[in-house]
Amino acid sequence: MSGGGSDLWSRARAVIPGGVSSPVRAFRAVGGEPFFVARGEGAHLVATDGSRYVDWVQSWGASILGHAHPAVIEAVQRAAADGTSYGAPTAREVELAEAICARVPSVDKVRLVSSGTEAAATAVRLARGATGRPKLLKFAGCYHGHVDALLAEAGSGVATLGLPGSAGVPAATVADTVVAPYNAPASILDDVFANHGAELAAVLVEPVAANMGLVAPVDGFLDGLRRRCDEHGALLVLDEVITGFRLGLAGAQGRFGVRPDLTLLGKVVGGGLPLAAVGGRADLMGELAPDGPVYQAGTLSGNPLATAAGLAVLAQLDDAAFETLETTAVALADGLRDALAGADVPAQVTRVGTLVGVTFAPEVVRDYDAAQASDTTAYAAWFHALLDAGVFVAPSAFETLFPSLAHTPSEIERTVDASARVAAAGLAAASLSSRG
Ligand code: PMP
Repeated sequence: MSGGGSDLWSRARAVIPGGVSSPVRAFRAVGGEPFFVARGEGAHLVATDGSRYVDWVQSWGASILGHAHPAVIEAVQRAAADGTSYGAPTAREVELAEAICARVPSVDKVRLVSSGTEAAATAVRLARGATGRPKLLKFAGCYHGHVDALLAEAGSGVATLGLPGSAGVPAATVADTVVAPYNAPASILDDVFANHGAELAAVLVEPVAANMGLVAPVDGFLDGLRRRCDEHGALLVLDEVITGFRLGLAGAQGRFGVRPDLTLLGKVVGGGLPLAAVGGRADLMGELAPDGPVYQAGTLSGNPLATAAGLAVLAQLDDAAFETLETTAVALADGLRDALAGADVPAQVTRVGTLVGVTFAPEVVRDYDAAQASDTTAYAAWFHALLDAGVFVAPSAFETLFPSLAHTPSEIERTVDASARVAAAGLAAASLSSRG
């Protein structure tokens, strides 16, 4: 189960905090120790001991084509031969920006950065600079990267580790952050806007929440935010780091018909290399340096390898690709729903377009309170049963499954069969103690 990484694991813990470069990778929420990846091949990961895993993590959604897709590898190799970074403009940055603007109607201009966190931090400064207002509204369970002002009640690793936010964030830094429940009813949103609306620079939201399991927006939630932002002069920022180029070419905003002022992109758009973006209305983007007074910069921004990978991925994503992805997601979700139907712990399998979520809860999860009340021990039992069967899902109950274009019915079958076996054997009885 350790994937042959034990020696690497002790070396890692000696020199890297927790042994990992990002917390959830450490398996703390599910117990045991992580395997070390030697390489990825399409829908699979190969560990350093040669074990193969069907991979539904896919770099947390970055690899929509599957690992080591030939078009991406070739593009990156060709780009690398010309040098890895210049700190000066390149044609590919322009081409990638054009490709993004052509696909996402609300994006007139886009600034390339290196991570989703950076995109969120840029959007926060831009929104405050453009509006001259201090406050931010975010929603419990939504994760926007590890930006100080946005860690309050964040999902993802913050939820996994049960942290209320983070040490090292001064009270003053979050004094202007207002947190409301995801999918909050109109009465709560009316109150929030009545109290804070005139001071709100931005409302930031994951249009589909994918960092507390997978939680769909209820009817009217996103429209209601758009309307209230217009009424109160706040900017609507959709964090499409996960949903962008994942729920379709125009992301969740295309799917749900809501037009944000600013959009955060990451993951898919970088093709598995460090690239993310913030884009939106031309007048707002004009506030960014050097056109405007809001400073933002990056040594590796618009990196030649990352833009090459992003362009290679976008070239593969057309309507047919999204139909294929959705077919895979439907088969996976339906199979898992059947497999887990008779389990001793009730499971909710959610699907929004091409994304799938599994949460052990008695009812469909609509908000962070319900997500946090879900049975994480049952999730850990499911996780380990799958891992033992050679299937890797996120090592935390608060994440999502990411079908790629490389997944086929055989990977779905293996995942569903292993789920049916553990459901029959009993999830509630499984103990974490044997996993260390
Ligand atoms: N926003 C969302 C919705 C995310 O899921 C993530 C990362 N999982 C981020 C922002 C932060 O991106 P990064 O990890 O690249 O900083």
